[in-house]
Amino acid sequence: MNKIMVSVIIPAYNEGENIELVHEALQKEFAGLSCDWEVVFVDDGSMDDTLMTIRALAATFPEVKYVAFSRNFGKEAALLAGLQHAGGDAVIIMDADLQHPPALIPELLEGYQEGYQQIIAKRNRNGESKHRSFLSSLYYKAVNSLIEVKLCDGEGDFRLLGRQAVDAILSLSEGNRFSKGLFSWIGFDQKTIHYDNVERQNGDSQWSMKQLLEYGIEGILSFNQRPLRLVMYTGLIVMALSLLYIGIMFGMILARGIDVPGYFTTISSILFLGGVQLVSLGVIGEYVGRIYMETKKRPHYLVKESNAKRDNREQSES
Ligand code: UDP
Ligand code: MG
Repeated sequence: MNKIMVSVIIPAYNEGENIELVHEALQKEFAGLSCDWEVVFVDDGSMDDTLMTIRALAATFPEVKYVAFSRNFGKEAALLAGLQHAGGDAVIIMDADLQHPPALIPELLEGYQEGYQQIIAKRNRNGESKHRSFLSSLYYKAVNSLIEVKLCDGEGDFRLLGRQAVDAILSLSEGNRFSKGLFSWIGFDQKTIHYDNVERQNGDSQWSMKQLLEYGIEGILSFNQRPLRLVMYTGLIVMALSLLYIGIMFGMILARGIDVPGYFTTISSILFLGGVQLVSLGVIGEYVGRIYMETKKRPHYLVKESNAKRDNREQSES
């Protein structure tokens, strides 16, 4: 068996207390494995001592690489930076809060040795707040009926990607990145392994309800134009209904002579149509906004400091 190189990518935002814990856990795991490894911490503009801790680790341990952003650019940008700076034949993506158990690494690597390009670690939702898991399951139902790629509840970013899959992800140049969808979109041979949900180690989840909602909308809109079509269908249905209504009213007027229609019908149709139009405009606006952002071609993140070389095998776009 050839010795392979494994990179572990860890996005970290205000994870000061967790960095050393993750690193220790990784050390322990890889000590029992016969492969080279490195860890790439991506400090996503943390406001606590995350960067200091990472720097100190990097000074002591040669396998610790890091990229520090100039401000908080979000987890998606951090993942991208991690992938771009990872030099391994296989890349493992995991969270800094130890919710993705490092104990699964041997199993992930087994899948890689079997020839899979994506080994997905799927969790159940034990111990998560009820309303959040309910909302999630609802969301996945809705989203899967709207987009072509398949998203599964419990399949997060925790996974191992082979070099082929990493290069495929890096070749997608879009500015609005929705990793879950991209991972599913690139395909390749996939294998799923299962694990039990773990509670966060230190600190709080960095996701607010608002961010989750935005993430959700991003997921729906970044994959196709189906919402636009939905808007069109709604318009058609409303139009057909109102034509029907007009026909019936007209027939009644002819049959029974002129009647004074109430305010109710007028007001309700105005309000209803107004609502439909506003929503439609909103959906179109979302897409136009996206085009606007994409045309600016801004980089996904800015690096303040780093000890890792960017892996430019694929292309030199940022
Ligand atoms: N994270 C990040 N940038 C952000 C928010 C989060 O890099 O703006 C990282 C965070 O440090 C953690 C991972 O993304 O390693 C998952 O975040 P979190 O645990 O808050 O999310 P959850 O597990 O609740 O989905
Ligand atoms: Mg977490």
